[in-house]
Amino acid sequence: MINFVGAGPGAPDLITLRGAELLKTADAIIYAGSLINPALLEYAGSGCELHNSAEMTLDQVMAVLLRVHRAGGMAVRLHTGDPSIYGAVREQMDRLKAEGVPYEICPGVSSFCGAAAALKTEYTLPQVSQSVIITRRAGRTPVPPGESISSFAAHGASMVIFLSTGLAEKVQGELLAGGYNADTPAAIVYKATWPDEKVFRCTVGTIAETAAQNGVSNMALILVGDFMGYDYQLSRLYDPAFTHAFRQGSEG
Ligand code: SAH
Repeated sequence: MINFVGAGPGAPDLITLRGAELLKTADAIIYAGSLINPALLEYAGSGCELHNSAEMTLDQVMAVLLRVHRAGGMAVRLHTGDPSIYGAVREQMDRLKAEGVPYEICPGVSSFCGAAAALKTEYTLPQVSQSVIITRRAGRTPVPPGESISSFAAHGASMVIFLSTGLAEKVQGELLAGGYNADTPAAIVYKATWPDEKVFRCTVGTIAETAAQNGVSNMALILVGDFMGYDYQLSRLYDPAFTHAFRQGSEG
């Protein structure tokens, strides 16, 4: 049996109860060493094999997973945040399916949620933005046509840009080209929820300079949008006049 487990954004107590239990009972854990907080590996039992996937190819990862399963054991493939976001899990699941090996996925708290918590902010504010765009800039991994940063910028929605702080200058240029004003609020959140978390609030026009001045090039998210500003409408759900299925409003 194989379990893909979301480790959460970093703090070891932000893994789910289910995820922690799976780590405790695993015979082997393959973890993404470049991103996983090593403190999470303390959940592992004493006899558990530990493998750092940063030093492995897909074939090597699969070989460990298949060996453990065929010996009657349970292996955990530990991914940062939630496995469904830039986790490269699909290719592993398809190989397991082809081999007839059962697997499950345990979700995790994605780093974009950890970043919102670090900023004490809400992505979806009435009259400001009701959508969150999760994206990345093309780097060594290409991005399909139609998903450029500038085309998304044209929506003016809340935006979270993964894997791109090393390309901050290009990101900034494309956000501006797409229609954001230079003074639109932005932030760079480095290692959200880790002990050395850092939050840099800036504007779209100062993203590149903020990344460079603070030496942030990886393990960070770029957040963009007026959701980090001051203007918004109160939610209708808690408006005393608003009636809904569970509450009679004063004007209902
Ligand atoms: N599945 C993960 C993302 C993996 S891709 C998730 O759901 O969060 C790796 C990228 O995620 C990093 O380059 C960085 O952009 C972002 N990231 C992961 N953990 C982070 C953290 N604690 N703080 C800020 N960004 C993080």
